[in-house]
Amino acid sequence: MPTPFKRDVKTRALYQEPAPHIDKDNPFQSMMERFDVAAELLELDTGLYDVLRSPSRIHITSIPVVMDDGRLRVFEGYRVIHSEVLGPSKGGIRFAPDVHVDEVKALAAWMTWKCAVVGVPFGGAKGGVTCDPSTMSAGEVERLTRRYTANLIDVFGPDKDIPAPDMNTNEQVMAWLLDTYSMHARRTETAVVTGKPLLIGGSEGRREATGRGVMTTTLAAMERLGMRASQATVAVQGFGNVGSVAAKLLREQGCKVVAVSDVSGGYYNADGIDIDAAAAYAAEHDRSLAGFDGAEPLTNEELLALDVDVLAPCAKENQITAENAGDVKAKIVAEGANGPTTPEADAILNENGVLVIPDILANAGGVTVSYFEWVQDRQGYFWSADRVNRRLDRMMRGAFNRVYDAAETYDTSMRIGAYVIAIEKVAGALKMRGIYA
Ligand code: GLU
Repeated sequence: MPTPFKRDVKTRALYQEPAPHIDKDNPFQSMMERFDVAAELLELDTGLYDVLRSPSRIHITSIPVVMDDGRLRVFEGYRVIHSEVLGPSKGGIRFAPDVHVDEVKALAAWMTWKCAVVGVPFGGAKGGVTCDPSTMSAGEVERLTRRYTANLIDVFGPDKDIPAPDMNTNEQVMAWLLDTYSMHARRTETAVVTGKPLLIGGSEGRREATGRGVMTTTLAAMERLGMRASQATVAVQGFGNVGSVAAKLLREQGCKVVAVSDVSGGYYNADGIDIDAAAAYAAEHDRSLAGFDGAEPLTNEELLALDVDVLAPCAKENQITAENAGDVKAKIVAEGANGPTTPEADAILNENGVLVIPDILANAGGVTVSYFEWVQDRQGYFWSADRVNRRLDRMMRGAFNRVYDAAETYDTSMRIGAYVIAIEKVAGALKMRGIYA
């Protein structure tokens, strides 16, 4: 076996400092803190460490858009390719006012680890445009999407870099991306993007996939702890595409979902919330639960501290912190969101014996079915929802077991176990391929 690098192992304290321009709340910082612990456990060579922490390419592009009132505005767009070691790069595109290149860098790295943990043959990438889609018309969002795609036409491609939806982007945005790319390619290229509508090469089960993965990994964790779904109580923070589906599917498995929340606040019902009724209510009320009368109101802090068996944070970053981690009474925390737990909170949850299913495992169902979608597009042969779900469940369970075993082997948390698996895989592939010079 060729080992092309001279080993140069140092302790964590001697690894180089995080890149400049990263503030404390930046997800890159919290990702690197976990990465460092896993790198030290693996005695990762410092040269490999430097390669794995650095994105391979960062594209920044100006996007001029003619607004509906005739004015011309210029938006800034990004596409960060973190790694292509395991295959073409993969990851979503987010449209939000606070999108920043450092955040996109962090999210791109997260995609690399996520793909490696579940075993899909992709590298990691992420895109974003700094804009506020809530103040833009559909036409303006369409023109922004098309020009962003055209500017990055050489970056994207079914064998190169494959985008997907993320915050504030949806199937329609993916359809515009597909169309723009296809117009330039002079052929319809469905495999250039995933998370697109079924009519134009999307996959059954993609929309529900992230929430489904949360459900599957939660059930696997319950089995390890000897808990029964029919006797388990659950609180879900966030009622968007991930939280609402996770709540619905956990309920279908027999769990009692006693609390849910969204930006309008928390909702509690000791007898269990009728999730279908809550979802129908939100669908009719501009995707908000405000005014839902099937439960009592409760605060976000109260929801996190509920005496439940499972807590599923499916909203946003930095929700479980050093301040409130000690109040968490759940036995299992299933991270449907990216980065909901800070590194300081990790230590408290571990100390208290809480089993945390880390984000790069718990929410990897989305990218797993994105992989299935890409495979189906390339084969031109589409699977039933049943086949998609069975394969997703199998991959998520397999990944859960590998992470659980790695955590035992290294006597560490599941989060660090997941990073160990991911880093080992990407670093192993990098060594095998060697460095092109
Ligand atoms: N944006 C999703 C994520 O962060 C999905 C990415 C994809 O399917 O490529 O996992």
